[in-house]
Amino acid sequence: MSLRCKAVVARSLGKLPVVEQIDIEAPRHGEATIRLAACGVCHSDLSATNGTIAYPLPLVLGHEAAGVVTAVGEGVSRYAVGDHVISSFVSMCGRCHYCQTGRPQLCVQSLRALHTLPDGTLRTRDAAGQSLNVFCGCGVMAEFATVHGDNLVKIDAQMPLDRAALIGCAVMTGVGAAVNTARVEAGSVAVVFGCGGVGLNAIQGCAIAGAAMIVAVDTSEPTLALARTFGATHTFNVTGQENVGKSLYKLTGSGADYAFDCVGKGQISELAWGVLRRGGTAVIVGVAAAKDQITLNAQQVALSEKTLTGCFFGSARPSQDFPRLIGLYRSGRLKLDELITRTYSIDEAPQAFADLSRGREGRGVILFDAA
Ligand SMILES: [Zn+2]
Ligand SMILES: [Zn+2]
Repeated sequence: MSLRCKAVVARSLGKLPVVEQIDIEAPRHGEATIRLAACGVCHSDLSATNGTIAYPLPLVLGHEAAGVVTAVGEGVSRYAVGDHVISSFVSMCGRCHYCQTGRPQLCVQSLRALHTLPDGTLRTRDAAGQSLNVFCGCGVMAEFATVHGDNLVKIDAQMPLDRAALIGCAVMTGVGAAVNTARVEAGSVAVVFGCGGVGLNAIQGCAIAGAAMIVAVDTSEPTLALARTFGATHTFNVTGQENVGKSLYKLTGSGADYAFDCVGKGQISELAWGVLRRGGTAVIVGVAAAKDQITLNAQQVALSEKTLTGCFFGSARPSQDFPRLIGLYRSGRLKLDELITRTYSIDEAPQAFADLSRGREGRGVILFDAA
């Protein structure tokens, strides 16, 4: 039996997504249906609507959500009806090389669940009966979704679901970039380029790790003001600046220990590399357009012993890290309330995307009536 509900669907490239009625099939073996409570509107969703990240359309958007399990398929023992869960846009099989060596964010199964469930099939159809792809095996910008159990993490039912949703992408990615990927040390100097949902969390990840100086870099004053509340000790507005790299290097004294490109642009990654002191680490967190390139001086790579590394999903181990982040929130050390700067109903989703593309500060979250 299928379930009819509203969902946010990307139909045509370069256009805002639309809200439509879709049908969700019951869960099959290993799967669960969830009633969503909240879903964050992430830059990657926007990238799917404008082609920066190539996804086959039509596509049910959403990969940063939390909700309650309403049905489970055969063979599901990890979840029961009524459980509270966060979606994980990385499917984690638990058996592959990466899962077994503590790097489930690189799970091979997730490569088979980019726009379908891991078995290559879909549980989503539009009113005309056409199959709808789902963003990273999730498609959780909808009132209901049927996803594989490997794309869910069970959480404590006391955790507010709208706050929990953000852990599913922005918070895990940003905090994880600092804590898991870069392993920021206490007393260090960090520079964070781009202070959107992920950048703000890279800043608070550096703060949680004890960085002494955290420089927030952006083009918007309201965004930089918000960055201070997330732990930035200094802000730098690049608007109208002639030599950003030199100025930032000077501001840090003798270069940064860590620099994070949370925008995802070759030029910004090069800037991040450039502001490092010798031996420093630059982390590319934002996902650049497919043809974007980085150029580095090969001799300097050797002589400076700097590290340039990628960071996917904050090098997350979701089943361990999501509960840890909830623990940090509860102890007052992780800011989630301050991250939600705007909320929308599902009918207002197109406006949420318009606001995001205009670069408004903080995170917009869609709250679902059904929850
Ligand atoms: Zn995201
Ligand atoms: Zn795996």
